[in-house]
Amino acid sequence: MVASRYTVEEQRQAIWVYLEQTSGELERISLELLSKGRQLADRAGWPLAGLICGHQVRPLAQQALAHGADEVWLADHLLLADFAVETFAQATFAALMQGRPSVFLVGGTPNGRDLAGRLAVRLRTGLNADCTNLRLDPRTGILTSEITGFGGGVLALLEMPNHRPQMATVRPGVFAPADADPGRTGRVIELPLDLSPEILRTGRVKRVVGRGVDLTQASVLVCGGRGVAGDFDMLERLARLLGGEVGATRPPADEGHVERERQVGQTGVVCRPKLAFACGISGASHFVVGIQEADTVVAINTDPEAPIFEFSDYCIVGDASRVVPALVRALQERRGTTHD
Ligand SMILES: Cc1cc2nc3c(=O)[nH]c(=O)nc-3n(C[C@H](O)[C@H](O)[C@H](O)COP(=O)(O)OP(=O)(O)OC[C@H]3O[C@@H](n4cnc5c(N)ncnc54)[C@H](O)[C@@H]3O)c2cc1C
Repeated sequence: MVASRYTVEEQRQAIWVYLEQTSGELERISLELLSKGRQLADRAGWPLAGLICGHQVRPLAQQALAHGADEVWLADHLLLADFAVETFAQATFAALMQGRPSVFLVGGTPNGRDLAGRLAVRLRTGLNADCTNLRLDPRTGILTSEITGFGGGVLALLEMPNHRPQMATVRPGVFAPADADPGRTGRVIELPLDLSPEILRTGRVKRVVGRGVDLTQASVLVCGGRGVAGDFDMLERLARLLGGEVGATRPPADEGHVERERQVGQTGVVCRPKLAFACGISGASHFVVGIQEADTVVAINTDPEAPIFEFSDYCIVGDASRVVPALVRALQERRGTTHD
């Protein structure tokens, strides 16, 4: 068994949470982790620390203290102005080796997952990914992480008795942020950093900000898969006519045809619309969990044997590039308009 960079004997009894920030604002997940971290720390009688990486992020320290941290570690450097896994991993690694906390929690966001995986390898510890609950035994100091598998059908409890830190990524939205107490104070520790641009192997080409859509609130969802061959404009027209939103399976999200926040399914969003369309989607279980609570599912697929039809109330065997525009025309005619 490979030993972790610091051992159980060398750890400090403390909970650390990684406080993700974007453009100088703490992400909601950071407040959720502070809230859960505070509960665990209080029960164990341990301190709670927040770790913030970025550039000119000192003003966030007070916000972290107000939301429950006892101390805040700041990794502030020009090269941390934008997220890049190479520099952020180096900064968080340096902080963790200095603070040696027993527990380190990271938000299960795209950047958080990227960072946590790399850190776990560097620290030679484990990573409990996408946890939906956490418990800390005050007697043994062992963190128990709860994760769901097979679309929610299996619940697994994970523990890491021999490696430190006990790392977990936490699914956003499972813990509620606590109210801020502006009167709380604590220590702010600035971490000396020696970062060089040579370690960067990635760079930002363009920053694209999504519309911030929340698919969980959509009553109509028009989802497209690989079978729509990137034509999300026609799905957008149908969604607009029905007052709904566009969703997607993972392949079109991976290929950049839609924003990641529109991915539906196990690693995307789980929705409960009244009406869901599945256009050019095979029906993999990873996707189906995202719409199985829909009241009505309409599937359009060229393959009459496609598994999606087993989960659908209306099954249309046909080419989505013909069926969807025909549906749009029919809706427009019914409404006496040629506009969406
Ligand atoms: C751990 C893990 C997590 C995952 N999480 C997710 C997740 O959250 N969400 C998700 O979606 N996937 C997820 N996946 C991927 C998932 O397993 C499937 O690979 C994915 O859902 C398939 O997407 P698809 O149906 O668009 O593509 P395909 O499986 O390639 O299906 C395309 C379908 O389009 C049909 N088709 C082709 N042309 C047309 C046409 N002109 N008109 C109509 N139909 C047509 C085909 O018959 C086929 O059924 C995950 C996978 C793993 C391993």
